[in-house]
Amino acid sequence: MQNIAIFGATGSIGGSTLDVLSHYKDRYQVFALTANSRVEELVRLCESHHPRIALVADESKKDELAFALKSRGLSDIEVWAGESDLVRLAALPEVDVAVLAIVGAAGLAPTFSAARAGKRLLLANKESVVCGGALLMKSIKEHGAELLPVDSEHNAIFQCLTSASDEDRKNARLILTASGGPFRKRMDLTEVTPEDAVAHPTWNMGRKISVDSATLMNKGLEVIEASWLFGFPPDRIDVVIHPQSLIHSMVQYADGCILAQMGAPDMRTPIAYSLGWPERLDGFAKRVDFAALGSVTFEAPDIQRFPQLGYAYEALRMGGAASIVLNAANEIAVEAFLDRRIRFLDIARACRHMMDTMVLAAPKSLPEVLAADREARIKTREVIAQW
Ligand code: NDP
Repeated sequence: MQNIAIFGATGSIGGSTLDVLSHYKDRYQVFALTANSRVEELVRLCESHHPRIALVADESKKDELAFALKSRGLSDIEVWAGESDLVRLAALPEVDVAVLAIVGAAGLAPTFSAARAGKRLLLANKESVVCGGALLMKSIKEHGAELLPVDSEHNAIFQCLTSASDEDRKNARLILTASGGPFRKRMDLTEVTPEDAVAHPTWNMGRKISVDSATLMNKGLEVIEASWLFGFPPDRIDVVIHPQSLIHSMVQYADGCILAQMGAPDMRTPIAYSLGWPERLDGFAKRVDFAALGSVTFEAPDIQRFPQLGYAYEALRMGGAASIVLNAANEIAVEAFLDRRIRFLDIARACRHMMDTMVLAAPKSLPEVLAADREARIKTREVIAQW
């Protein structure tokens, strides 16, 4: 039995993980569940999965959580709260696997804690790699942790690289696929609403990442992630639009051979792969019906309409804290867009402005990463407030 702690259990990845775990109760035990502030949702999950620990990151909700659990007859579940408990939980000896599915920079501290404690990390939280890539990879190596990428693209690349020698890797190219998002065919993006932007054509995801898919920032963040996770420079990472989301990503080797990983667009598949690795768990996800699918298509991304993809390459090449600045600017701008304070095209404008005006040295520690992130957020908020 392996003990699983799910950080961000009340979110989209958290829910998919719990669904996978419910199929393998003989192998995995839900040990801990965390949420930010949605106590009711967390309690509902505690009722169905009965973890040993329930954690709410917003400390002011601790009593509410304790009371709600008690009133449902679940007072045997330990109540933890706050960021320091998130960090403590990730390093707890009883935890075998940490599923890191918190959205945003709040996911960095527990991710680094799990790495330092030598855990198996099922990593969905993009920001940990985008902001702390070099430091995180170093920590994983030093502490003998295992990093299994949950994001479908990186999980696909992980699978396509398994049999590659160091020499093969040196000359290979990564090809990340992108669905193209809801606006692939929409030329005029000036009047896009939050409802339009979160309506993803193939994937069912949280609101922030859905907007990132609509701007192609998500693909840009994935380019940065892929560079750190697999040690590839930006000029050996390509992006191709593939609207059917059948091929999750590919690796092209020096001899021209391409390995592609395919499957239905269902996050439960990469989650199950990462849980079971190096074994494959018996599948329960939908099978692909190639005959019904008919054809698959590819096209180049439109960098003019979706400039944030280009900004991500630029940030990687700039180095320093450019990826942190880009990520923070995007997160604040997406939040403002979802709150209807700025327009869709202002998200890219905020990212551009911040990259042009804020140049910070490469952070040397997690506190420096978090400080750079905080500074970039404050500046972005100030800029947006003036628009
Ligand atoms: P959701 O918005 O659906 O869920 C986010 C989770 O994080 C919730 O449990 C939320 O708690 C918690 N959370 C939010 N803020 C904080 C905070 N400050 N401190 C602690 N916990 C917090 O996100 P997704 O599941 O869509 O995405 C999670 C991560 O995985 C993101 O980094 C995303 O980019 C990445 N990812 C997602 C994919 C997907 O298909 N959804 C695919 C690949 C990667 P509460 O409910 O209480 O607010």
